[in-house]
Amino acid sequence: MDTTKKNNPVYSTTDTSKVNVSEEEWKKILSSDVFYIARQKGTERPWTSKFENFKEVGTYYCAACGNALFKSDTKFDSGCGWPSFYEPISKGSIIYTPDNTHGMERTEVQCGRCKAHLGHVFDDGPPPTGLRYCINGVILDFAKAKDAEKNYKEKPQQ
Ligand SMILES: [Zn+2]
Repeated sequence: MDTTKKNNPVYSTTDTSKVNVSEEEWKKILSSDVFYIARQKGTERPWTSKFENFKEVGTYYCAACGNALFKSDTKFDSGCGWPSFYEPISKGSIIYTPDNTHGMERTEVQCGRCKAHLGHVFDDGPPPTGLRYCINGVILDFAKAKDAEKNYKEKPQQ
């Protein structure tokens, strides 16, 4: 995960400006598995993500650009094999696009900052939204609540 960020100049959990990077550039910046999901709209194999049964409290970020996507308290056990959430962290954090590939009518969800492919949203989720954001774990970065807090504090007073 950290090797991805080292060569990633656009990764930031605080900068919300839109990211515009060419596919060629993305290929250099991202690890091959993240590139495959984010830019080629790939799908990881079900039950392979470490986040599938992950219960830590914190925030999930886009692994391509660092944009905050989901809070851990909106994560639920969907049993579908991919990390699932019922609500994004904010309205602008995600972009919705109709996806009619593979003979299905689905709604693709993309990162609102860098347009990385994240997964799909379905309407069979739990209350209060009734939505199920079915997300590839490869495209998620996680920061524990305490670590995230640290990131937002400028410099500790000494
Ligand atoms: Zn992103």
